Amino acid sequence: MTVLCLVELDGTGAADASLRALTFAREVAAPGDQLAAAVFGEAGVLAGGAQAGEALAAYGVTDAYVIEPGQLAGYAPLAWARVLAGLASQTGADAVLAAGTDRGSEVMAHLGALTGQPMAANCVSAARSAPGSDGAGMWQIVRQRWAGLLLEDAVLEASPALATVATDTVAPTPAGAPATLTVHAHPPELADGDLAVRATESVTRSGGVSLATARVVVGGGRGVGGPDGFAPLEELAKLLGGVVGVSRVVTSEGWRPHKQQVGQTGTKITPELYLACGISGAIQHIAGCASAKHIVAVNSDAAAPILSHAEYAVIGDLHKVIPALVDAIKARGRSA
Ligand SMILES: Cc1cc2nc3c(=O)[nH]c(=O)nc-3n(C[C@H](O)[C@H](O)[C@H](O)COP(=O)(O)OP(=O)(O)OC[C@H]3O[C@@H](n4cnc5c(N)ncnc54)[C@H](O)[C@@H]3O)c2cc1C
Repeated sequence: MTVLCLVELDGTGAADASLRALTFAREVAAPGDQLAAAVFGEAGVLAGGAQAGEALAAYGVTDAYVIEPGQLAGYAPLAWARVLAGLASQTGADAVLAAGTDRGSEVMAHLGALTGQPMAANCVSAARSAPGSDGAGMWQIVRQRWAGLLLEDAVLEASPALATVATDTVAPTPAGAPATLTVHAHPPELADGDLAVRATESVTRSGGVSLATARVVVGGGRGVGGPDGFAPLEELAKLLGGVVGVSRVVTSEGWRPHKQQVGQTGTKITPELYLACGISGAIQHIAGCASAKHIVAVNSDAAAPILSHAEYAVIGDLHKVIPALVDAIKARGRSA
């Protein structure tokens, strides 16, 4: 059997979310199964010594299928799904997985529609039912519902099984020993209309760190007061080697773009440190930051719900606390 996993790229490396999905895929695969990856990118991205190629081998991938941009430029969800459908049948995959990212979820939903199979979103575990048992050919899955507030036990009857991985529940873990990776150039076979929706350009991130994978996230909510209030948070994030994330109020008000939103309808983050400034801690926000290793809150309200999730809190005005923190870090840098 083959377990096929969509691997997204972050620059020229494999995205952290995809490494988590590969870790999950390896757990799903039975001994002797092949772990295959589909990668949309330049051929060189997996060439000998390339970061993404080494990562795939380290995570146990034996066969990587590269779909080059010359043949399929940009991000086209339906076309990507068509390619995955072709690869699934070519490799005889009985499971096709992707990280539960925006792209992973969208492509897998299209794949479900194309193949007529159900797709299980946000899985935290999946196991084939034992051969010969009543449930042979079925998958026992556990998946997140309500943005991770509930776990659902479910049975998935599908061939191949289609699932996205709740990546905030899986730590990226390389295999014990790297696999020998064979890279195949895979020419896509598309149908009319597959490229009707296609993103050909995306804005390059300035620091190269994404919200989903940042080690430090400085969060700003309504308490920041407006678009101009984010400058000290940006400065602090830069000093700490992190990025700014925001609450939905902030994006709804148009103070910051949606791609910076943390939460149920935004990005799920898994940083070492989440510094939540002027954020009340609504359940939909916590759904996106609960996997942070340490949460520190800065809030003027000692009864704000975020405090029950935070390890430490500063009760005070963020407009005073954050500049003071920035000054303290700079002073420490000067004296070091
Ligand atoms: C279906 C659905 C999906 C949603 N998805 C998301 C999501 O993905 N992400 C998300 O964030 N929200 C989401 N929401 C919205 C969520 O319910 C809250 O409305 C939102 O998170 C509140 O944002 P906030 O904490 O910035 O604002 P508020 O709740 O207004 O909190 C502002 C906080 O700032 C503090 N404060 C004010 N001034 C200062 C100051 N000077 N210094 C320090 N602290 C100060 C206040 O004490 C308060 O705690 C969703 C809602 C729904 C219904």
